[in-house]
Amino acid sequence: MLKLFMLNVNPIPAFTDNYIWAIVYGNSCIVVDPGDSSPVFDFLRSNNLELAAILITHHHFDHTGGLLNLAEIYKCPVYGPKGDHIKGITKELLEGDEIKVLDLRFKVFETPGHTLDHIAFYHSGPDGSFLFCGDTLFSGGCGRLFEGTAENMYKSLEKFISLPEETLVFCAHEYTQSNLKFALSINPNNSYLVSYSNKVDELRSKSKITLPSTIGLEKKINPFFLLKNDEILNNCETFLGGKITNQIESLAAIRSMKDSF
Ligand code: ZN
Ligand code: FE
Repeated sequence: MLKLFMLNVNPIPAFTDNYIWAIVYGNSCIVVDPGDSSPVFDFLRSNNLELAAILITHHHFDHTGGLLNLAEIYKCPVYGPKGDHIKGITKELLEGDEIKVLDLRFKVFETPGHTLDHIAFYHSGPDGSFLFCGDTLFSGGCGRLFEGTAENMYKSLEKFISLPEETLVFCAHEYTQSNLKFALSINPNNSYLVSYSNKVDELRSKSKITLPSTIGLEKKINPFFLLKNDEILNNCETFLGGKITNQIESLAAIRSMKDSF
C-alpha cells in the first residue's frame, strides 16, 4: 500500500495550561478541542496548513470556545458529542462510531465522568496509536467529576486500559506535575512514580511540555489506574475510616482526596 504522509501531532498552547492538539497530515490539519481560535489561526498560517476538521471531546468552554470562528473561516466539519448543547457541531458521535478524516480513521469512545457528554478519539495506524482523551485522563490523574459519578469514570478509564501500551496519550491540560505531587503522597513507594516525577520536575523547570504520555506509563504511575495497589488502598481506607470493597469505591476515595489536596 502506498503511504503518502506521516502523521504528527503538535501542541498548540492556549489559556494558562490547555493544549489544543494539532494532528498534521501532509498539508492538512485536524485540531482537537480548540478552546481559543487565535492560537490555532497562528499555527495554521505559520505552517501553511489547511484545517480539515475539528474534533470536540466535551462542552466546556476551554475546549469549544474557538470552534465557531474556525469552522466559519475553514468551512470544515466539526465532530463532537451528541446532543444540541454545543453550537457548531456538524457530526454528532456515539460510542463505537468510526469517522474518517483525511486518510485517518478515528474510533469514538463515550467516556462520561468529568462531564456526561465526554467522548475520546482513538486512531491507530502505521504511524502508531494515538488517544485524544480531553479531560478524562491526565498524566498521573483524571478529570474532576463535575457531572458524572465515580462509576462512570471507572468505566471510562477501563476503555483506555485495554488499549495498546504504546498508545500515545494526548491530554488537554498540563496538569502532570501537580497530579504527581498528589500521587506521590498516596503512593510514595512506587519507584516508577518517583523516577517519572523527577523527570517531570526537570521538564517543568524548563517550562517544557510533559505530554504525550503512554497507556503503559499511566498503568504504572497513575493512581486512578492503580486501584488495587496496597499502599493506595491503605491510604483510601485511612481517609474514609472504613474498608474499601471494590475499585469504584477506591476511585471515589482517591478522587475526593485529590479534590482536597
Ligand atoms: Zn473540562
Ligand atoms: Fe478542560
